[in-house]
Amino acid sequence: MSCKAGLRHHPIRLRKAGLSEELFPQRASIPSVVLLPPDLSAWSVTNTDVPGVITFEAHAPGPDFVITGLLHGNEFASGHVLERLRRTPPILTSGRLTLILANLEAFKCFHVRQPLAARYLEEDMNRVWSTHRLRGSETSHELRRAREIEPFIRRADLLLDLHSTLWPSEPFFIAPHVKRSVDFAAGLASAEGLPSAVVSDLGHQGGARLIEYDRFAATVGAGRGCLLEAGQHWLPETLQIMEQTVEVFLQNIEGLHLHAQTGGPQQAAHSFFVTDNVVARSADFAFTQLWEGGTTIPHAGTVIAHDGRDVICTPYDDCILIVPNHRPRFGQLAVRLARRTAW
Ligand SMILES: [Zn+2]
Repeated sequence: MSCKAGLRHHPIRLRKAGLSEELFPQRASIPSVVLLPPDLSAWSVTNTDVPGVITFEAHAPGPDFVITGLLHGNEFASGHVLERLRRTPPILTSGRLTLILANLEAFKCFHVRQPLAARYLEEDMNRVWSTHRLRGSETSHELRRAREIEPFIRRADLLLDLHSTLWPSEPFFIAPHVKRSVDFAAGLASAEGLPSAVVSDLGHQGGARLIEYDRFAATVGAGRGCLLEAGQHWLPETLQIMEQTVEVFLQNIEGLHLHAQTGGPQQAAHSFFVTDNVVARSADFAFTQLWEGGTTIPHAGTVIAHDGRDVICTPYDDCILIVPNHRPRFGQLAVRLARRTAW
């Protein structure tokens, strides 16, 4: 299925000549909740006096490293990982580890019958991390909580932010478009057995993510930050990817801090850059098939979706689909398009 396959540059959106006779696929059903939520009741009283924030300190000084989970309340594979670390703290040779369950209040609202509702209470907590929002006069549950945990983020030399996706996707890392953080993500992605793809972009249209906080994304900042999208929210395999990544992270703190490198067996890591955000302009946006995130579309001009009277085509050869949203509402992001780049 191709508009003009073979061209290297192709319009993404084309108006269909007349009413389409093509059959649109059924809208995808929301994936089942296989992995059940963890018991996080122990996080209400912590050694920092801030609920959901726990620190462990080594005797020797060293880097400050932070693992965040539950920025989105229904992505609770990260809650399992942090709860396991709380119960069995890692042996630290130097520095300080901070574990943060960011949106515990949203997580508490999770119910298997309405698994999407617990993503946040008032606004997306992973879009509020600009100085403008954090220092502004607006308020919401998520902004209040972001301001509460910001002191622990501000001091981080390394930040690993654990996420998962609603729709099935190959796991991958996301780094802000700053060399020190891209290098950090690449260091993790080069460790054998971890996700090998690093996606970077110029930000998210809805607001600044945690990895875009100045400490990790400003030109003059010192911290390195990246985000792991470990797979579908509620699959045991997603938890496994998070556990493996956290293990490599914790075993290589010094190397990642100083050189953005891990020891041990290595693999080839790959870099991708997001070139386009495709937003649904109609209520009946539908992909031509249930593309999985990370799919490579070989030919420019391949029709990947219908949007009202438009068709959506890939703009270049070997276009990567980043987390297609199989139920976008009017005005919502439907898919991001990325191409492979050199490091
Ligand atoms: Zn998330």
